[in-house]
Amino acid sequence: MIRARRVRIVATLGPASSTRERIKELHAAGADVFRINMSHADHPLMRELVGFIRDVEREIGSPITILADLQGPKLRVGKFENDKVELVNGARFVFDSDTTPGTVDRVHLPHPEILRALKPGHRLLLDDGKISLKITEVHEDRAEATVIQGGPLSNRKGVSCPDTLLPVGALTPKDRSDLDAVLDADVDWVALSFIQRPEDLAEVRKVARGRAALLSKIEKPQAIERLDEIIEMSDALMVARGDLGVEMPLESVPGLQKRITRAARRAGKPVVVATQMLESMISSPVPTRAEVSDVATAVFEGADAVMLSAESAAGDFPVEAVATMDRVAQQVEKDANYEGILLAQRTEPESTGADALAAAARQIAETLNVAATVCYTTSGGTALRVSRERPQKPILVLSPRAKTARRLGIAWGLHNVVVDETTNLEQLIALAGATMVNEGLGKTGERIVVIAGLPLHTPGVTNFLQLAFVRSQDER
Ligand code: PEP
Repeated sequence: MIRARRVRIVATLGPASSTRERIKELHAAGADVFRINMSHADHPLMRELVGFIRDVEREIGSPITILADLQGPKLRVGKFENDKVELVNGARFVFDSDTTPGTVDRVHLPHPEILRALKPGHRLLLDDGKISLKITEVHEDRAEATVIQGGPLSNRKGVSCPDTLLPVGALTPKDRSDLDAVLDADVDWVALSFIQRPEDLAEVRKVARGRAALLSKIEKPQAIERLDEIIEMSDALMVARGDLGVEMPLESVPGLQKRITRAARRAGKPVVVATQMLESMISSPVPTRAEVSDVATAVFEGADAVMLSAESAAGDFPVEAVATMDRVAQQVEKDANYEGILLAQRTEPESTGADALAAAARQIAETLNVAATVCYTTSGGTALRVSRERPQKPILVLSPRAKTARRLGIAWGLHNVVVDETTNLEQLIALAGATMVNEGLGKTGERIVVIAGLPLHTPGVTNFLQLAFVRSQDER
């Protein structure tokens, strides 16, 4: 199925979208990637959703991408005697390692190592940043704080420590068990929440052993500080604006979105812009003008994908939300200013064979007005470098590995097709032409640029570029 846009749409699955039929509808409306949020899905549900997506994939005959999002070290306070207290501005409040239910003076923070990492002056933000406190004293088993902005606080509300480098890795015991389960279920991408340092990625990579690609959710100031190193260790990035807007001042989020998107584009790593993109569509069939403008900004900026969270997972209009995102993206990509804005952020090719050929392919495609660049790839690396160039002409990716074709579904502008393995160049050129016709991307006699690595099926080598014609069936 050819999409009439280059940016990709990620739809989160949840109670509003967890049937085979609904997943098919969401895909038909424009969802390219399905996200399973492991904060809410248990293993049997996750396996069922993966099964539904693969059923739809078989039915439509095109690869679909699955992203499993691990919860990460999300901190929460314990419970209260009466389920809820009211914190008053200026009051003293204690976080401690005592597991008894909390009161208006104290609550259990079930992570002793966090208590020890807090320092006087550090802020603690509770319940999505609605309540803030400043640490005044730290002891072995408790941290004392003053309430800066009070309000109602109930059981198990989230805690953010924006000023504290937390002594935790990327994987909690729950994440570790979820990771094993999602790798067994053969998902394509694993998203890591609350990562703080590049070492967090190394830890997960050791477990994943290439079975899934790794996407780093950027949502903590500590990750922003080491952004370039984290990008280098990641296969893709997400601007996770929900928690980012708690841990950092809200007004800094748009600038950070631009910075992360541009850094990821420069590195040629796919970047997803996420959270509250069409939030009002949780309960309304039409979005606000501001939400439409927000989606458009991410598309103009050249993000690889835009994401729906509660809109598709738990809203009343999941299919309409995907269709709206699709329409907005299509319109932006037709806008007279789109190419100019997109290209203003294109950076020089890096000094690799894949980059040199990707840049040359784009130039040839545009000079000769070819129908597409066709990229034959085993690992997917070549296709990502072609995508990094953000060429005006379509990109057709042929891969003999379903895993590769599925993984590439998150990246800008790649139309991915699983093909039989080709053994020689003559066959490859014929296959490229035939797939152009089958996929509705080109006609006999049109020109294509084919790039690949020789010998074929040697991952990491991109050294072949040929200008070819789409030949008729008789000529093939
Ligand atoms: C976010 O915080 O923006 C995000 C995408 O993460 P989650 O939905 O897991 O909170």
